[in-house]
Amino acid sequence: MASSNKFKKCVLVFLFTVVSILFSGCGSVSSINGGELSPDNLQVHFISVGQGDSELIKLPTGENILIDAGDTDCDEYLVNYLKQQGVEEIDMAVATHPHSDHIGSMQDVIENFKVKKILMPDFDYDTLTYTNLLYSIDENGVDRIVAKYGDTFDEGEAHFEVLGPVVQYDDANNISIVLMMTYGDNKFLFTGDQEKTAENDLLSMGYDLSADVLKVGHHGSSTSSSQEFINAVRPSIAVIEVGEGNEYGLPKDEVIMRIARSGATVYRTDRSGNIVVSSDGKELYVATDDTLDSIFDVSAEYPDSSAESQPVLSQTSDTDEKLQNSEVSESFIGNKNSKIYHSPDCKSLPAEKNRVALDSKEAAEKAGFTPCKNCIK
Ligand SMILES: [Zn+2]
Ligand SMILES: [Zn+2]
Repeated sequence: MASSNKFKKCVLVFLFTVVSILFSGCGSVSSINGGELSPDNLQVHFISVGQGDSELIKLPTGENILIDAGDTDCDEYLVNYLKQQGVEEIDMAVATHPHSDHIGSMQDVIENFKVKKILMPDFDYDTLTYTNLLYSIDENGVDRIVAKYGDTFDEGEAHFEVLGPVVQYDDANNISIVLMMTYGDNKFLFTGDQEKTAENDLLSMGYDLSADVLKVGHHGSSTSSSQEFINAVRPSIAVIEVGEGNEYGLPKDEVIMRIARSGATVYRTDRSGNIVVSSDGKELYVATDDTLDSIFDVSAEYPDSSAESQPVLSQTSDTDEKLQNSEVSESFIGNKNSKIYHSPDCKSLPAEKNRVALDSKEAAEKAGFTPCKNCIK
């Protein structure tokens, strides 16, 4: 497992090195999904940390905001990713709630970067990971702010408002800090793992919850994203951060369909890897590891990749149809990046270009693949 993860990390770091080089070149930008991926734009990186959440917001004026830091096992990957993006200081970190899939590697972030302040909910939680985080916050002189709804923060041209939690819940998911970021005409809503109880309480506050981009609550679980909440947000882009082959069977189809039916394009880190939404204050552009792969033609790194892969991200319904229609005659399907193998009817098959046909379980395991926890019994 360790070496396969390392392989995946190397590939991703390579891809983003390519992007970083492009970003640092003066004005030489590429068109991605019809838009410009430009260092003059705000960038929101939904980082592919496996089963967990982490979002990096980079302002064109140099400020960095990190919302959550994945689980404890993504420490090296996350720190390297931030370094690849040129991050040296973090102006504001947010630990949405104390579950380890959100704060697991925050201590590593604090120890590797100068973190100026960290927003946390008012919540007692008795785990070693959380206790260690609190200790390192104190040790490193990070300004710890207990976030209250109504608090606002300005970082560069980005305006942040804490919308929730509006109730002192005793449930760790519902206590998630909910942040609305406004940048020019664009709005981004980050909801951590808040569930329907907290969503309903937000709705009853009478907030304007409409946003262009939604970080979908609780990894696409059916505990969250009620129809009423989605109706109020009406995102055009929705991002689910979720680990491939996770043991919880996330994201749930009903949640994806509910969000897609509202008119949003749904992106998932388990299928697309890292997802970057950028904004010039008016228009939004989306790039993912897949699109970057196609655009920068790194096929030499992917000897098996199919030539016809397009730098276009389809809506979930299209993707599902494409998966159903794709040739699945092979006994098992491996993901050449994550080295996980699936049965052809698994709900979380990798993108077509990342697939490897495997004849048998024995062949898969001989080739270093590990079974998907959902579909291989
Ligand atoms: Zn979570
Ligand atoms: Zn949680």
